[in-house]
Amino acid sequence: MRCPLHPEGGCGFHKHGYYERKTPMPLKIARMYCPKGQTTVGLIPDFLASHITGTLQDIEEAVATYELLGSLTDSADAVRPPGMVGDNEEPVTLDATTRWLGRRAKWVTGTLMAVAGMFPQLFSLAEPTIQSFRAHLDTESVLVELRRICSDRLLYFPYPLGFGPRVERGRISHCADQQSTCRDRPP
Ligand SMILES: [Zn+2]
Repeated sequence: MRCPLHPEGGCGFHKHGYYERKTPMPLKIARMYCPKGQTTVGLIPDFLASHITGTLQDIEEAVATYELLGSLTDSADAVRPPGMVGDNEEPVTLDATTRWLGRRAKWVTGTLMAVAGMFPQLFSLAEPTIQSFRAHLDTESVLVELRRICSDRLLYFPYPLGFGPRVERGRISHCADQQSTCRDRPP
């Protein structure tokens, strides 16, 4: 296991207990600690999104549907069927689903633009869409594949692909607790 801060090694990166994650399935996530960087890192499995519920593939499928249908409201209806209940046991309204899908579409577009900027030689001709990246990477699991491609930089990459601070309204919000960082905190 390589330290994401020190891929060259030598920093004493080691296992540091576990934390529990409840969604989309109960999981124990291994926590690692880098003494040199005084940073803990949660080893989230490749298929899980970081900081939000669900898998990367769930997010990708929802956004791919939106790209296909072209309307947030129409595709919200398609990706989360009526009758589904939310955390508070209230039926999920079309409005709520539309906002849910809108957030995911925004995350994915931002992520794909950032990746294209990071690897201009790979993605210079790609549009920041799932369809375009699927064609470029020849895969139906773009986000999982990108997590592998960007594995050295995930600490600095915003969620749900990476484990970095969230970017909101163009500003990076910092963790209140500088010592422990919030990178590995479950949602
Ligand atoms: Zn390290």
